[in-house]
Order: sequence, then structure tokens, then C-alpha cells
Amino acid sequence: MQHDTLTPLHDLSYGNGVAAAHDLAAGEVVTDLGQCVEADTPSIYTIDIGGRHIDGPRVRHLNHSCDPNTHVDTVRLQVVALRPIAAGEELTFFYPTTEWEMVGPFACLCGAASCIGTVSGARDLPREVLERYELNPHIADRLASHAGSAR
Ligand SMILES: [Zn+2]
Repeated sequence: MQHDTLTPLHDLSYGNGVAAAHDLAAGEVVTDLGQCVEADTPSIYTIDIGGRHIDGPRVRHLNHSCDPNTHVDTVRLQVVALRPIAAGEELTFFYPTTEWEMVGPFACLCGAASCIGTVSGARDLPREVLERYELNPHIADRLASHAGSAR
């Protein structure tokens, strides 16, 4: 049975977002990405699932946070709750866990103590920052092959 667990948010100071439609437990699948379509080119709305960029009407509005409450798993194609999430709470994920580089870098306003400031993809972050997050394989692989080069 498929539940639509994402509710649109329209009046955020920074634009659109999506919220949990009902309470979620840690580890619960928030939504699957199977309904998403492959985009021809990456955009500020797409998610890199390892060389392919997908887009969907709700997940395109998943915003970034440096203290996110979900993880986007690009292998299982699922968005998973990282902690208990209350109905109505905005859903966020850490963009560099899916994006090595980004077409639309921005200054993060998440307010987390661990905020990285400018969000422009994993390529631009120190390893010790990236290691705080669950990286998808295509990012971990790039990081490994990037290790020897100058930062
Ligand atoms: Zn931040």
C-alpha cells in the first residue's frame, strides 16, 4: 500500500518545501523515489542518484539542512527518516550526500550549529565534515578518488 507522506509547504520565507503528512518514526521510509522521472540536465530541483538526475513534483521541494531529518538513499531510491518526525514538520536532507557538485550553490540559512555555510556540493567540503553524514556510494566513491588531489 502506498501512502503519500509528503505535504507541500508554500509560504516558507525561502520558498517551497515539503512536510511530513503524518508522524514518522526513525528509520521509516518517508517516500520512495520510484515515481520520479529522469531529467535531461541537472537543475536546482534534481537529485543525483549516481550519474542520473531525477526529479519529482514533491521531492523537488525537499530543502537542504545541515542538521537534516531525512536521508535520501539513492540505491534503494527511498527517503528515510533519520529521527522521529512530527506531522507538519518540514523534511530536509543534506544535499552533498547526493550532489558532488551543484548547478545552484547557495548560502545556507538552516541555523544549525554545524551549518556549513555555502552549499555547493560534496566536492567543496572537507572530508571530516562529509563523514558526519551518510554518504551515498557515488559520493563516497568520488571522495575516495578525490583524496590525493589538492583541496
Ligand atoms: Zn546549514
